[in-house]
Amino acid sequence: MLGKDPAKKPRRGRRPALELPPRYPLWGSFFGIVLILLSIALGYSLFAEGQAKTPEIAFSELAAGIKEGAVKGIEVKGDTLSITYADGAVKKTKKEAESSLSETLANYGVTGAELGAVSVEIKNESGFFFWLFQLAPFLIPLLLIVLFFWYISRQVRGAGMQAFTFGQSKARMIDPADKTQRVTFGDVAGVKEAKEELKEIVEFLKNPKKFLDIGARIPKGVLLMGAPGTGKTLLARAVAGEARVPFFSISGSEFVEMFVGVGASRVRDLFKLAKKAAPAIVFIDEIDAVGRVRGTGVGGGNDEREQTLNQILVEMDGFEPNEKVIVMAATNRPDVLDPALLRPGRFDRRVILDLPDVHDREHILRIHAREKPFAEDVTLTVIAERTPGFSGADLYSLMNEAAILAAREDRKKIEQKDLIRSIEKVLLGPERQSHLLSKEEKKITAYHEAGHALVASVLPYADPVHKISIVARGHAGGYTLKLPFEERRLQSRNEFLDDIAVSLGGYVAEEMIFGDVTTGPSSDIQIASALARDMVTKYGMSAELGPVAYEELGGRIFSGRGALAAEHDYSEEVSAKIDAEVSSIISAQLARVKKTLISHRATLDAIAEELIRVETIERDEFERLLRERGITPKHKKEEAA
Ligand code: ADP
Ligand code: MG
Ligand code: ZN
Repeated sequence: MLGKDPAKKPRRGRRPALELPPRYPLWGSFFGIVLILLSIALGYSLFAEGQAKTPEIAFSELAAGIKEGAVKGIEVKGDTLSITYADGAVKKTKKEAESSLSETLANYGVTGAELGAVSVEIKNESGFFFWLFQLAPFLIPLLLIVLFFWYISRQVRGAGMQAFTFGQSKARMIDPADKTQRVTFGDVAGVKEAKEELKEIVEFLKNPKKFLDIGARIPKGVLLMGAPGTGKTLLARAVAGEARVPFFSISGSEFVEMFVGVGASRVRDLFKLAKKAAPAIVFIDEIDAVGRVRGTGVGGGNDEREQTLNQILVEMDGFEPNEKVIVMAATNRPDVLDPALLRPGRFDRRVILDLPDVHDREHILRIHAREKPFAEDVTLTVIAERTPGFSGADLYSLMNEAAILAAREDRKKIEQKDLIRSIEKVLLGPERQSHLLSKEEKKITAYHEAGHALVASVLPYADPVHKISIVARGHAGGYTLKLPFEERRLQSRNEFLDDIAVSLGGYVAEEMIFGDVTTGPSSDIQIASALARDMVTKYGMSAELGPVAYEELGGRIFSGRGALAAEHDYSEEVSAKIDAEVSSIISAQLARVKKTLISHRATLDAIAEELIRVETIERDEFERLLRERGITPKHKKEEAA
């Protein structure tokens, strides 16, 4: 309803702005090296220049000098002559390459005797330093490049990025002894049911012996499901923190590497590390990145992903009960997960994290307000009321934005107006497209959900309501949680009909109250149609067509991956009959729902008003509302007694 795509991760890339970017020691030392090399180069060129500064004279001048007896010695280096005069002066000149020094001097009229008074030294040109100086202009840049690569490779490895060690685990480990990184349940607000479930895991990790001695089978895998930012990662860390065990974490998206086989080997390494450190937690974030349904055969498979997933399954199956490693995984797309992951002995514990309601939002705000100075006028309750649909992560960044606003204006304390302005800032942030429920939308959503809930409570075969909420969740603006009393093996015709009616409840309520319908009920209508079609084509529940199966029994169509191209083996005529039958079932239920809602209009209003006020109604509160208006809530037989 309120276009929140659960597959999107709006928080990606939006770092809390108060955090400083990480420092790179790499660049510090790299620039150091460059500086040293530059000064060497500079020194060399100065030296070379120093040589060049020796004054150069004409050869004739040298000849004249020798004749006068002013020259003490000559050093010959190739064609270059350094002349040392009796007064200590050093000068330079060149001779012709083809002829020797004495020959040339003779041409200038210097006699052998005159030359004999001068010490002539012939230097070997192929000396080490000579060549070094000749090559230096080429060698220095080359050396620079080599050093650069050497440093990069060393630093990159040191920083744990492991660009040159593909197969190794990229896992990050949080040591329980590290106080600064430790997270506990106290840091996680709301999600009460999830915490309750996970306490058992904590208990086991703390004291595995107690469980193993009594022969208890320990859960291997826990799957955390919830919209982005609901605190899945945080909660997993809190479990490790509470149990004080090491926490190895890796993200599913990291497995999607360039080379096939890398992911699988990483998984192997990760589990090896964890087993060594047991009891421990292995956390696989965003498991849907590798755990998508395999072998759909459309668009080609991704071998790398499949191998990684297989390796995870192999590792989990290979656990001995006394290995004391618990695998936790998080996803916001449980609907796309491969069923193999959910089989017993794998991720058979499932924990759902809901978006926070008003009360939880206040609690989350309070947690993130801990180390921030607030002015007296701050009322977090008001902020919580104004932020329906915000996730924990949104609230965290709201707090941070408020602090930034206050700091920008050089105030020492955060004021209420900073928080209110930040709500908008978080909402209008570039990555988030959802918006606050307007008053009208809130009312529509409330009546819609009230419609579902009321129909479910009045019709005899529908599942009872556990919770109603108009807090947006996933792609729905609100939801009504219905749970069967017990696992249903057989579903009767009456149950099918009531389920269809409940699905239509939202649609009928919207039409009845507002005289108009929104796009909200679209998925409800799909569910209702699919149920009706199943009744007719699979279960022979239609009087018109009788007990003939026109479709093979398969997964429920709305399970998220219906058959892509179902093959029909019936005629056009039958097809038309099926359509007619489906639409007659739907219209019969529509009429029934309308009648129900009209006769309980006062209750419908009461539920909707309560929803607008508190956003989430739990089972007890809901049943009180029903009883006050003369509707007896459904109960399990033993519960009723
Ligand atoms: P997810 O993994 O579900 O996408 P995260 O665990 O990464 O969400 O949450 C991001 C941040 O949002 C957390 O680090 C925390 O600061 C904040 N947060 C989310 N949920 C809660 C919560 N229930 N209580 C406190 N803080 C929360
Ligand atoms: Mg996460
Ligand atoms: Zn609905």
